[in-house]
Order: sequence, then C-alpha cells, then structure tokens
Amino acid sequence: MTGDFVSRVLAWFDDHGRHDLPWQADRSPYRVWVSEIMLQQTQVVTVIPYFERFMAHFPAVTDLADAPLDEVLHLWSGLGYYARARNLHRAAGVIRDRHGGRFPEAFDDVVNLPGIGRSTAGAILALARGQHHPILDGNVKRVLCRHRGIEGWPGRRAVETTLWEMADAFTPEENVAEYTQAMMDLGATVCRRGRPECSACPVSADCVALSRGRQRDLPAPRPRRERPLRHSRMLLVTDAAGRVLLERREPTGIWGGLWAFPELAPDETPEAWVSGCLGAEATSTETWPELRHGFTHFELAVTPHRVAIAGQPGIVMEDGRWLWYNPESPARIGTAAIVGRLLAGIAGKNDNETGSGERDESDGQVRVAGR
Ligand code: SF4
Repeated sequence: MTGDFVSRVLAWFDDHGRHDLPWQADRSPYRVWVSEIMLQQTQVVTVIPYFERFMAHFPAVTDLADAPLDEVLHLWSGLGYYARARNLHRAAGVIRDRHGGRFPEAFDDVVNLPGIGRSTAGAILALARGQHHPILDGNVKRVLCRHRGIEGWPGRRAVETTLWEMADAFTPEENVAEYTQAMMDLGATVCRRGRPECSACPVSADCVALSRGRQRDLPAPRPRRERPLRHSRMLLVTDAAGRVLLERREPTGIWGGLWAFPELAPDETPEAWVSGCLGAEATSTETWPELRHGFTHFELAVTPHRVAIAGQPGIVMEDGRWLWYNPESPARIGTAAIVGRLLAGIAGKNDNETGSGERDESDGQVRVAGR
C-alpha cells in the first residue's frame, strides 16, 4: 500500500510539483537549510525575495557566520519569528568552528544545530543529499492525517508519534528528495488547509477523510485557549533633527536582539523619562491610538507616546544599546514590523496605517507551515 501511495505521489510530482524554486537550483545543504528555516512560518511567494537577498549577501555559510547579527536581522526584517534568524546565525558559527565551515552531513550533527528539529534536519539531508529520512512538517501532517484518517491534534505526543511512524513507513528508499518535495508540494497546493482540491489529488482514491467527508475536520485543531493580554507603553522620542531614539532589546525574549523603542514603566510619564534619561525637556507630547500585536502565547497592546525634545542630545547611555536613528537615511538594523510601522508613522509616511492589523511574528513555536 505504501509503495502505491509513493508511486502516485511521485507521478503527480513529475507533472504538477514545483521544480524551479530558487533553492532547488544548486541544492547545497546550506541553501536548503536557509530555505527550510525561512519557509517554516511563511509562504513560498513571500520567502523568495528574502532568500535571494540573503544568498546574495551570504553566499557561503562562513559569510553568514562572520556577519554581524545586526546585518542578519536587517535582512530578516519583515519575515517575523526572529529567533529563526538568531538561530541561523548561531548555527553558522557552530558550523564554522566545529565543522570546518562545511555543513555537516550526519543527521545527529545537523539535528544538534541551533534551531533545527527532527523534521528540518530530515528535510535538509533528504532534499540536498538524498538521504533516507522522513519529514513531518505542517503540510505532511495534514496530508497524512486526512489520507489515513488520523484523529486528534497532531501536537499531542501520541498523535505525533503515530504520524512519525507513518511518515517513516511511507518514505521510500529511492527518490527520497523527489518524494520529500512532492509531499510538501501536495500539502501546499492540493491538500490545502482551507479548501483541499480533492479532485486533483493523486491519492484521493483511498483517502479516508474524503470518503467520510471529513476533510474540514482533519487534522484536528489545537484545543482553544485564551491568550492573555499584556500592555506596553512605547516611547517615540524625536530630537530637533528628526532623529528617533531606539534601544536594542535583550538577546532573548520577544524581538530579542532587535532595535525597538524604549518602554515606559506603568507609572512613568514621557516627560520624566526624557528628563531623567536624556537630561532633555519635552517640547510636545501626544499619545497615539493603541496597536494590537498577536504573539503565539499572548496578545500585546501597545500604546505609543510621541515626545519631541529640543536640541540634539548625545547618547548619555553609550554602550551599544542606544541609537539615534535617522528615518531619512536609515541604518541597516533589524527592527520588528511594529517598530517599522511606527517609524514610518513618525516620518509622516504611514500615519493612517498605524492602527491596522499585524501578523504574528512572535518567537514562539511553529503554528502554521504556510508553504
Ligand atoms: S483526497 Fe483531498 S483530503 Fe484526501 S489527501 Fe487528497 S487533497 Fe487531501
């Protein structure tokens, strides 16, 4: 049965799979790795320009390892889930220092790199080296859950164990790279989350979900839970030259390592902050409408406080943590999307958009594999 499933998927892939994605040319483990990380939460069409820019800047893994983290985050700005970029940079350093600058080819070495789990390690080695490893990304989970009628949320350990066993049993000894890409493509383009196109599916004849009309129910969704609401008051300080004060976030936590606005304590006024931290006097203050930003584990309500100050103070807290940012000639730094929007608002380019919805770009776990 598994052989028949595989041959139908492979035949479909020949005619309908994706064969000309940028990372499919010159399939080095390094290029496949970067593409797999970028694709974890993001659709192909979004990833392509980011991937090409990334490769133009860092053609080899050692280029990535030697680059400043800020440069990496800058090239990642807008893709979200910034832990991915930080882990890529850390892993590149490990490859340079422990593997002589060559991407390792042993599964245990790959899966031990920062930010690489079992499925990603399997995908890299299967796609780039044709090694026999199963993968279980969101697309493969969806196809297997529906085709085999697997009940239960795939995040539950027992369900996941069953799916891994199934993925392993289906993965062929030969044509592993093609099969791996085919399953990703099948999930992304036919067995889609919202509207699966069962009439175009190569494995529809024995699909359990289709025969029972349960495509919409499988895979079972994550059990619902309330996300707590957190509050943040961001301080948008501009000096007489129009520069904006930014602070680098701690390396861990939300927006870790990115540049953002300083945050006010709950009982602190903007005037007191600029006086105490910059020795400056506020010439005007205004409070902008609240923004909402969804993270995996919580919702963040951001209240921006715009403060203009006189003169052009130097940085009194000079330790690489603070930056006077000039929106007219932006520095190459990594900023979270919400910060970019507020900077655009300050520059007068985007005042009307500051209240619009944002996509999740938390550093939490993968929620959707959106290829
Ligand atoms: S028949 Fe439909 S539900 Fe079943 S695997 Fe194919 S696309 Fe998915």
